[in-house]
Amino acid sequence: MTANPVRLQAIAAVEAYVPPPISFDPGEEPGEIFGSNVFSLTVMQKRLPKSVYKSVVSTIEKSTPLDPDVADAVASAMKDWALEKGATHYAHVFYPLTGLTAEKHDSFLDPVGDGTALASFSGKTLVQGEPDASSFPNGGLRNTFEARGYTGWDVMSPAYVLENPNGNTLCIPTVFISMTGEALDHKTPVLRSQQAMSVHAKRVLELFGHTEPDNVVAYCGPEQEYFLIDSHFFWSRPDLLNAGRTLFGAKPPKGQEFDDHYFGAIPERVLGFMMDTERELFKLGIPAKTRHNEVAPGQFEVAPMFERANEASDHQQLLMTTFKSVARKHGMECLFHEKPFDGVNGSGKHVNFSLGNAELGSLLVPGDNPHDNAQFLVFCAAVIRAVHLYGGLLRASVASASNDHRLGANEAPPAIISIFLGDQLADVFDQIAKGGATHSKEKGTLTIGVDTLPNLTKDPGDRNRTSPFAFTGNRFEFRAPGSHQTVAGPMAMINTIMAEALDHCATSLETAVAAGTDFNEAVQTLLSEIVANHGAVIFNGNGYSDEWPIEAEQRGLKNLRTTVDALPELISPEAIELFAKYGVFNEGEAHSRFEVGCEQYVLAVTVEANLTLEIGTTTVLPAALRYQTELALNVKALTDAGLTPDRSTLEAVSTLVGSLTSALADLRTLLAHEHADDLLETATIVRDRVLPAMAAVRAAADELEGLVADDLWPLPTYQEMLYIL
Ligand code: ADP
Ligand code: MG
Repeated sequence: MTANPVRLQAIAAVEAYVPPPISFDPGEEPGEIFGSNVFSLTVMQKRLPKSVYKSVVSTIEKSTPLDPDVADAVASAMKDWALEKGATHYAHVFYPLTGLTAEKHDSFLDPVGDGTALASFSGKTLVQGEPDASSFPNGGLRNTFEARGYTGWDVMSPAYVLENPNGNTLCIPTVFISMTGEALDHKTPVLRSQQAMSVHAKRVLELFGHTEPDNVVAYCGPEQEYFLIDSHFFWSRPDLLNAGRTLFGAKPPKGQEFDDHYFGAIPERVLGFMMDTERELFKLGIPAKTRHNEVAPGQFEVAPMFERANEASDHQQLLMTTFKSVARKHGMECLFHEKPFDGVNGSGKHVNFSLGNAELGSLLVPGDNPHDNAQFLVFCAAVIRAVHLYGGLLRASVASASNDHRLGANEAPPAIISIFLGDQLADVFDQIAKGGATHSKEKGTLTIGVDTLPNLTKDPGDRNRTSPFAFTGNRFEFRAPGSHQTVAGPMAMINTIMAEALDHCATSLETAVAAGTDFNEAVQTLLSEIVANHGAVIFNGNGYSDEWPIEAEQRGLKNLRTTVDALPELISPEAIELFAKYGVFNEGEAHSRFEVGCEQYVLAVTVEANLTLEIGTTTVLPAALRYQTELALNVKALTDAGLTPDRSTLEAVSTLVGSLTSALADLRTLLAHEHADDLLETATIVRDRVLPAMAAVRAAADELEGLVADDLWPLPTYQEMLYIL
């Protein structure tokens, strides 16, 4: 018998690993490097003629179209700045529907005909690019004969220089659209929905007496959870390498039950990694703020400060890429999969969101006086309406094969989208409901806008970790997004449904005021109406309890357990109407999102199924067979020697080898034969047949892991991967 070299060599290599020394002065002030690689407003102010600078600011703040002359001036300054920073190339960076980041790199150098080349970069090149991007998923939006896609500069998200040992690149954040203007990416809907939301938020603000308020933007602060494991283990696990999660592996004897990792001391090697990543993020102007251990062993969290949603989602993508590359420098692999380890806590990306602008701050903060509080309550009520009417869309915005392992399991929020308000706000809305029912000032019920409104404290309030959508004092926290996904999807959805809700609020108030109703009374009526019609979405109890799904059903809330249940929400008649009304997606675009969602789901599970088949057949089964032979030889030798050997291990192993073999055969047959013409039907087959067939293979394999001799076991185990850092 040969001992398995791969796993044991990996362990030896991990033991011998020496972390690299920290490559920078740890005493360096973060302020010295913050934003040093960003073509920020400050840099522009220094380098651009005043009128050009003003014009750019106005494009950012007031959404005025970008003047081509201005673009030329900006491009020229940007090029000079980038060349000084050592950039040799520029890249339009965009976010196709694969959920990854795509870049098209071009050299600054243009041949000038006499054998030499000149660095050139025009406004036109800055503003628009044309990647040959026909292989990005588009859900039927582009035929191959018009396969071209265009990238267009998102002026609101600053350009930056990305460093690389082989040369630096000027990166320009862009949208990615088809020749006919349809969105092929994640950024376009964020910008479109942002615009729609702002229009209606401003109408509400005007009703509250703000004259010509600035654009209202959505802010997003994403909390990112991730795992770190040693690279040697990563490279010896084909499942982690190709699918991002372990498809095999028995639960470790010591799990997270002790909670000893949560907020514990950060291991030295990880701390080195964190310092290094933060420094890289700072250079890119990404305000990484807090860092700590998470619940599971090997799991950590980083939370950058909140920013405008479009910038936050660009930064979020950049953060993930940076984490991956810096982790490799430290001999580790950073895992962003939602559920890399079965039976161990998964990773999410809590999306904290609020609405506001520089002038007014967050509109989701209780004010200092009843008038401000009334405005705050209207914005909160809009959230309640939005989430109640379109919870299914929020669920769809976080649907993926990988997030299905997390949502609804006993760790992440349930798949039922409800709102947690905290005691204080729940109580206020409760009073509003009663006040609205009687409409009686005399009885001392609450009337908004007058002194009877209770003083709202600004404490972050209480926490309910089981709620998918929780008010946390000055923002809402959407906890369902998965760790690997872009925040652009959820943010576009939040903006869109908020646009509808704020439109509703503004229209209701405008109509009442025009009819001569007192404004305070109109507000009271609106709030009562929203609580009466949409209060069912408010749930302050335990979202993990067995009773909640039953109660939720009685309340008429959807429980969309899997991606296959959730994706059709994107193309329901109500959704199509909503997207069209607020200019976020036309019908074709909505269908394309749905189709790409289905395709990605089928693709992800099919890759996993093929890997399960391959690893099961070529790695796990051979180890089990070797051990079975060893046991059989042992039994024979003992029998030959006249002894009575214990056969129970041999029998147990033989039974499991039998189960594993037949489970692998079933999976093989299934993969060869099961597919339908319709995308959703294929996704349903994949969910209902392929996933269970994979689970059967895994069950036999994981049980074998507990029986087969350790020196024969080929795959790094959970305890090795999770505890050796
Ligand atoms: P907690 O662990 O208490 O949820 P963290 O500090 O880990 O809090 O993360 C909170 C996140 O919420 C950060 O990204 C932070 O910037 C963000 N945040 C704070 N205030 C707002 C706000 N008004 N709007 C949007 N995000 C916010
Ligand atoms: Mg949090």
